[in-house]
Amino acid sequence: MANPVPPRDRTDQPWRSEGAPPPKKKMPGGWPALLLAACVVFLAAFLALSYLGDGDEPTVSYTEFSKQVTAGNVTKIYAKGDAIQGQLKNAQPLPDDKGDYTKFTTQRPAFADDDLWQQLTRKGVTVTAEPVVVQRGFLANLLISLAPIALLVLLWVFLARRMGGGMGAGALGRKAPPKPVELMAGRRTTFDDVAGIDEVEGELNDVVDFLKNPKAYRDMGARMPGGVLLAGPPGTGKTLLARAVAGEAGVPFFSASASEFIEMIVGVGASRVRELFAEARKIAPAIVFIDEIDTIGRVRGGGAGLGGHDEREQTLNQILTEMDGFTGSEGVVVLAATNRADVLDPALTRPGRFDRIVQVSPPDRGGREAILRIHTREIPLAETVDLAQVARTTPGMTGAELANLANEAALLAVKRQQREVTQSELSEALEKVQLGAERPLVIPPEERRRTAYHESGHALLGMLQPGADPVRKITIVPRGRALGVTLSTPDADRYAFTEEYLRGRIIGALGGMAAEHVVFGIVTTGSESDLEQATRLVRGMVGRWGMSERVGRLTAIPGDAQEPYGLVAAPATLDAVDHEMRRIVDECYESACRQLRDNRDRLDALAEALLANETLEEAEAYRTAGIPRLMKEESA
Ligand code: ADP
Ligand code: MG
Ligand code: ZN
Repeated sequence: MANPVPPRDRTDQPWRSEGAPPPKKKMPGGWPALLLAACVVFLAAFLALSYLGDGDEPTVSYTEFSKQVTAGNVTKIYAKGDAIQGQLKNAQPLPDDKGDYTKFTTQRPAFADDDLWQQLTRKGVTVTAEPVVVQRGFLANLLISLAPIALLVLLWVFLARRMGGGMGAGALGRKAPPKPVELMAGRRTTFDDVAGIDEVEGELNDVVDFLKNPKAYRDMGARMPGGVLLAGPPGTGKTLLARAVAGEAGVPFFSASASEFIEMIVGVGASRVRELFAEARKIAPAIVFIDEIDTIGRVRGGGAGLGGHDEREQTLNQILTEMDGFTGSEGVVVLAATNRADVLDPALTRPGRFDRIVQVSPPDRGGREAILRIHTREIPLAETVDLAQVARTTPGMTGAELANLANEAALLAVKRQQREVTQSELSEALEKVQLGAERPLVIPPEERRRTAYHESGHALLGMLQPGADPVRKITIVPRGRALGVTLSTPDADRYAFTEEYLRGRIIGALGGMAAEHVVFGIVTTGSESDLEQATRLVRGMVGRWGMSERVGRLTAIPGDAQEPYGLVAAPATLDAVDHEMRRIVDECYESACRQLRDNRDRLDALAEALLANETLEEAEAYRTAGIPRLMKEESA
């Protein structure tokens, strides 16, 4: 298993890093701890001051005071008006057994006409007028009155830092501390963790080589490409590959998703980018990886992206500026990944920027097997497990899906308290991944019967179309959102499709609805996703793949679903597209109904078998329908 991506170590830092030098000593606990400490200190000071300030001297009677003066037991007094505070030489007991006292306060009655002053001087008592109460010093007063404000300021700085770094820290004239980076514990991701995309690894080897010894390149005066763009469908391992390049070269890896730059506070995206690149330059050679760059790198003026146009553009411009600033010898290589290379701003792919575009595709059969091997490295497999067989039945699946498949199988084995994963867990996991999890629903008999015919319709038409993907499994066990599923997968990987094949797919997709129509004469809601699939196919045929004479060989519908129609073609063309889509679907539906009527006996046989067995495997299904399974010799 590859190492997980390390967590971000600061909330205002939108990137992660691995393999960078260990962090400088950080303030233990960070800001919250500092704030807490400030509170504690403040409280302590406050208590101490008030303790000192307020006299806790016992108040004694004036009679008692006079007695002590006469006895010569008083050393000094403070007096203000008639209030007297003083100190004794020797402690005296308080009345009512309340212990002894040396300090005291007392009040001289206004009518007392003793000769206190003479007595005091005679006994050598130090007399000070004022203060009766020991006043707090000027500093202490200042401290106490300022404390709440100081507290508020602290709180503000704390919040500002949490929120964006820029604002609070900037206003105080202090830059955020250098970003602490974590040294990844354990093994880093390398090319050993990537399989099935060898040609891509080959292209990235230059980058690895450059990062490993930048000096050789520098001496030769060679410039590295500033950026490499990894383009391909989701789950094909682009992110993984970027990390593997860093791991392979043994250089620090900074990774950020483009949306993370602009997700939090508007206006800081650009400064984040600057900070990230500064950090990377500091410890170059290093890799900066910007994931999902299409979120900010779309063609300007296209569909609105995240966080408004200005924010996106500023962030994007900053990235471009940083890349233009490379002299080529810093040893910072920028990798970026996108699912949508077609919508990227040409400014990004200009020479000197992301001028190398590396296509990452779903793996072929050998690749799938290798990926399965990687993801079952730590899973105990039974002797009988045939990963090649699994690879054969998973055309089109990406690395991420295969990783998920391996994990599902392991989970199943644990649930069954087995020591090893066997082929049966693998095929069940594959079923779950491809068809969705089983749902324990009680289906009324009427509906069950209809579902059986619906699925038989899909399956039978799938078997009847020449060149269609063979039917692998039919089931009327509810799975995911569907009441039943018919699974067809190709024998070998396909890369391009003929018009005939696509028509066959549409006919197969409409087969469920057609069967319900032919057998029961009704239409149900159960065909929603079938219709969606058919629509998607026919829209591509007419609008993008030039398979309609009337529309002609042009792109009438943008590939990017976010781009509005109508900007690409004239209304008349769109009318024609609509018309042609209808025509093709109608023809396919006609064909589906006709074939089902002509083969009604086969349809009935399949439906009865399904009602009896719930699930039919490939061989059984073909046998029941009485159709020979045409095995095409597998290529490659
Ligand atoms: P992408 O970034 O292209 O969407 P990821 O790199 O995030 O895909 O892939 C997700 C996971 O799928 C990876 O962490 C890895 O476990 C698995 N995976 C994908 N492609 C491959 C591959 N070629 N080899 C091995 N594992 C892969
Ligand atoms: Mg990714
Ligand atoms: Zn269906």
